[in-house]
Amino acid sequence: MKVYSFLRGGIRYSDPAVPPRDSSVTAFLPGLSVIPLVQHIGNRANPVVAVGDRVREGMLIGRGQGLGSANIHSTVPGRVVRTVSWKMAEGLTNDAMVIKLEGGFEKLGRYQEVFPWQSLSPFELQRIIAEYGIVEMEGSGRPVSDMLYSLRSAKDPVTLVVRCVFDDPWLSADYVLCKERADAVAEGCRIIARAGRMNRIVVVLSKDEKELGAMLIDSMGKTEIPVDMILAGSRYPQRNGRELELVLRRYGKKHDIELGVILPLGPATLAAVHDAVKFKKPILERYVAVGGSAIKKPQVMKVRIGTRIGEIFAECGGFVDKPRRIGAGSPLMGRTVVDLDEPVVKTSFAVFAVLQGQTGEKGQTRCIGCGECRSVCPVGIDPEALYKYTKSANNRDSMPGRAAECHGCGCCEVVCPSHLPLRISIIRSALKGN
Ligand code: SF4
Ligand code: SF4
Repeated sequence: MKVYSFLRGGIRYSDPAVPPRDSSVTAFLPGLSVIPLVQHIGNRANPVVAVGDRVREGMLIGRGQGLGSANIHSTVPGRVVRTVSWKMAEGLTNDAMVIKLEGGFEKLGRYQEVFPWQSLSPFELQRIIAEYGIVEMEGSGRPVSDMLYSLRSAKDPVTLVVRCVFDDPWLSADYVLCKERADAVAEGCRIIARAGRMNRIVVVLSKDEKELGAMLIDSMGKTEIPVDMILAGSRYPQRNGRELELVLRRYGKKHDIELGVILPLGPATLAAVHDAVKFKKPILERYVAVGGSAIKKPQVMKVRIGTRIGEIFAECGGFVDKPRRIGAGSPLMGRTVVDLDEPVVKTSFAVFAVLQGQTGEKGQTRCIGCGECRSVCPVGIDPEALYKYTKSANNRDSMPGRAAECHGCGCCEVVCPSHLPLRISIIRSALKGN
């Protein structure tokens, strides 16, 4: 089977400190859960409970407000004991309901009533997906109902792209979820295809994980629309929107298929769609890759949303030594976490703690002009020139145009022998319009 890859640049990204991909373990239920009112890209959800109120597992506690905002639910039964606010590394403030675990669970360990969805209209499916606060869980946090809504006026065909590309080893939680919940992911595809009136489903897989694709397609069973499988290269950043679209368009051209508008979704989101529609269940827990050179026992864990990151690290045996950096997401593109009381949210696919010496944490030296950064940039821009420009004392002119094309993959930083912070410098300058 042909393997489709983006043409230029990229790296083979490996990290010995990621958790193994064989299976997941279930984390302890937290005694106190911290449920943030922002777990999406838009406005803070409006709280509908107050300190002192009792809440049930899965009960609505914050109502989304407008585009980009999503409903927030309690992930444990208990009592709201306080609200907290904290500053995140980017200078943004988040606030949360703190819930003390009390009383019985209505969903955990209980028989789950099944709600048939096959006869529901696309509109009704979208309403359920919105009601249960389903967002894109592999990073962006965009509400899935917003994505579906934006497709309503599409004149071209619409293709659901199942993004099972594991070019970054920190996606191990997604990989394990895909293996352990293949049926839920597959049914989530069929639900989304109906909700978005899609014309085709395309499963894109890293070439090393063919068996996963076969499993998913097999689990999907008979569908009303065509289902294709594309093997993609495993070079990072193959999963990135731009590089993924390049591959899809090449595939479409070769097979004379009009893919039209593309909606890429990952396995965690699709499984969450399945749970919302089939079991009327919001996102109560998620698979999280917990690792990094500072963690004693890296592992993939199923963690309740609202569990504090410090508690998860403790369950992995704690630290081997004082971490140099703690973060959420992949160390390549993730954000720094400044407080171990920060909780796991819907988009926390990985949390890490690294010692001095891991990516981005080495001492910087001067650029030696080796050109490595240029050779790996998938966009074809010159990170060395842009970086030097951002550092020059008299850079009053606007930033050279191509800086805006940088999508922040971080390939240039990984290969730079001088350990220069190329990615972040270019992004910051482009944002400032400098
Ligand atoms: S971070 Fe930007 S400049 Fe660096 S390789 Fe990626 S796209 Fe190119
Ligand atoms: S990889 Fe680093 S040292 Fe080499 S040219 Fe680019 S910025 Fe300079």
